[in-house]
Amino acid sequence: MQNSDIKDHVPHECESFSLPSLAPVLPISGRYAGRITSPIHGCFEMDLRIDVDPLHENSIVCHCISWDLTQLFEDVIANRSCRWRVDRGSWILQSPDVKTNELGVEIQGAAIKWNTAHSETQVWIRIPRNEPRLSLAQVTLDDGATVSTYQCEWQSHYFRDVALQIDVCAPVNLEPVLPRYDTPQRTLTIESVYADAGINVTINTQQKLIEDEARAWTPGELHQTMEDHFSELSGSPQWKLWGLIAGRFQKPNVAGIMFNRAELGSNLPERRGFAVFREHDSFDGLKPDEPGMQQTEASRKYLHTFIHEIGHAFNLQHSWEKDRPNALSWMNTAANYDERNGQGSFWCEFDFRFDYEELVHLRHGSHSSVVFGGDVLGRGNENDPLQKTKR
Ligand SMILES: [Zn+2]
Repeated sequence: MQNSDIKDHVPHECESFSLPSLAPVLPISGRYAGRITSPIHGCFEMDLRIDVDPLHENSIVCHCISWDLTQLFEDVIANRSCRWRVDRGSWILQSPDVKTNELGVEIQGAAIKWNTAHSETQVWIRIPRNEPRLSLAQVTLDDGATVSTYQCEWQSHYFRDVALQIDVCAPVNLEPVLPRYDTPQRTLTIESVYADAGINVTINTQQKLIEDEARAWTPGELHQTMEDHFSELSGSPQWKLWGLIAGRFQKPNVAGIMFNRAELGSNLPERRGFAVFREHDSFDGLKPDEPGMQQTEASRKYLHTFIHEIGHAFNLQHSWEKDRPNALSWMNTAANYDERNGQGSFWCEFDFRFDYEELVHLRHGSHSSVVFGGDVLGRGNENDPLQKTKR
């Protein structure tokens, strides 16, 4: 299929329409969702992410298009109507060709399917220029065997929506409960950091108070507490995550942990829970009434610990495990970076972001590899060239 075929679908009355400025009035990046329109040999749903222009001043553009396909089934079993969905995989298109004209935006390129040796799929996306915003993506896919089309409606400026339940142990229910760090330019929180990464995080406003008799938590105790208190715990992958602010871990040098790991070889879901240990020495300076360098450094470390552990839940590994030990990323540590680059250099140079490859994973990685309770940590992205990129 040629690009000119797409233009043939343009309504005739639009041909004489022109605007003095051809740049899009608003960003088109974000999440779109819709269904297959042809051929109709089953009900397929598309979750489409377009990442070609900045959402706001702190948001990096990855120049990627990605989508997940889900097939819906419906049947009557034992006199009951049943519906279920089957994940049909995720695709990514890097560095797409994006053109803006008087009719709207046209995007095209060759996509690959994650985690398979699948051949390329040619993609054409047209977003007609509508007022008040560009809200409809018309998608055509050609995998060499079948040409299919989808209509996807704009959903959100964010690429993923995550619900985060954070609970706190009674003895460490101290202000500040949630992290907050003021830079000269802006105030950083869990929500703002992940918003910069294109992820919309919603945190429960009222934390449950949990008894803390353990005093030196083990992964098993953390797991049991998650089972007891995570209101929406599920054995199926979902965009819901649980975090606990506890006292101290069994190894006192651990400030935070993504504890939900399955036994080796087990298929049990993992990456659904993490903990931050408020009694760790790094957080001694967390005293809002005593501003100063100690309070600043403790606030920064407290925020870093949350963002880092949540990053593990998103299936991000440490920077050095991806052969990027010099990455300025939430998934690196100041100690590791400073050892290579000089004392104090990490916090001088770090811009409070994930690195580019991590942003691509968070926004455009295969669904099962990113979603909580999906692939086990470090798996599901074996053929992800970006995870192994050296710097
Ligand atoms: Zn870590």
